[in-house]
Amino acid sequence: MKTDGGCAHMDALEALKTAERRVCAECVKIGARWVHLRTCQQCGVTLCCDDSPNRHASKHARATGHPVIASAEPGERWLYCYPDEAFAEY
Ligand SMILES: [Zn+2]
Ligand SMILES: [Zn+2]
Ligand SMILES: [Zn+2]
Repeated sequence: MKTDGGCAHMDALEALKTAERRVCAECVKIGARWVHLRTCQQCGVTLCCDDSPNRHASKHARATGHPVIASAEPGERWLYCYPDEAFAEY
């Protein structure tokens, strides 16, 4: 998908992955709370944002090297690439 973010990772995405369940997959295991949800565009896991206490989406990106997340919040349509620090709306 073509974006103006200057990010080859986003350009390589063909279809967006969306959240299957509106929960953070890691927080539910430990009974933690989250603020916002993000979906990894490499493997499709949905995790919590950097405003959440456990920041699972960032940890996942660092641990796996999966670069791009999409907001899983209703009404939000944007992507973020960690290695490029690139943000794009779609
Ligand atoms: Zn990128
Ligand atoms: Zn979480
Ligand atoms: Zn992933």
